[in-house]
Amino acid sequence: MNSLATMLSTMSEIDAILDDLKEELGDLPQQVKEAEEFVRLKNVQAEQAEKDIHDIEEFKSRSHIRLQEIKDKEDQLAQQQFNVRNNKEFDAITHEIESLRDERNKIYDDQRTIGVKEENLRSIMEQSKAELEEAQQHLSEKEQELTTISHGHNDEITEQTKKRASLAKVIPTPIFAEYERIRTFHKDAAVKVKKNSCSGCFSAVPPQKIVEMRNKSDLMFLCEHCGRILVGE
Ligand SMILES: [Zn+2]
Repeated sequence: MNSLATMLSTMSEIDAILDDLKEELGDLPQQVKEAEEFVRLKNVQAEQAEKDIHDIEEFKSRSHIRLQEIKDKEDQLAQQQFNVRNNKEFDAITHEIESLRDERNKIYDDQRTIGVKEENLRSIMEQSKAELEEAQQHLSEKEQELTTISHGHNDEITEQTKKRASLAKVIPTPIFAEYERIRTFHKDAAVKVKKNSCSGCFSAVPPQKIVEMRNKSDLMFLCEHCGRILVGE
């Protein structure tokens, strides 16, 4: 029963089970990774917009205070202008008032510009937050899906992998290496001969070879057409 053909056939069955289990996971692990990456990106965007809005709010409150200071100073200077003793003093005060007015106009300009910018940022932030929420929802769905599928699979995968490892130890090394090499072309590396044909590619197997296979159970036979390992019926 422990003939080479039986061992290879069993190995092929184990690999078929493992392939199926892994295929069911599909690209789900990759999808989870991509969803995580997207959440990170949306998080960065939302945080950046929030920070920019915070900076704008600081500017607004600073400029509000400064405008009040300017107004107080202007009132004070206007008062002083009544009490000047000469033209030189009057001109100096006038010059100071003008420079305060320039500063105030500059602040008004900045406030207008920043008002538009703030509006844009608020809509970007809102959009980013909505997208972030959606991305988080998508991620948790994918994670849930992956957990559900892996949960049922993990025990089975562990068991089959263990079986495979112990079988690999008793198959002669060069033959196992050949099996692994064939598996890079054909997932079903070892196939049964059915009705005198290779069940991998359905080509006829010469009767001579079938007789040999029966008599030499310690040798490995390959299909001449597809290169798969042939196992007796
Ligand atoms: Zn074949």
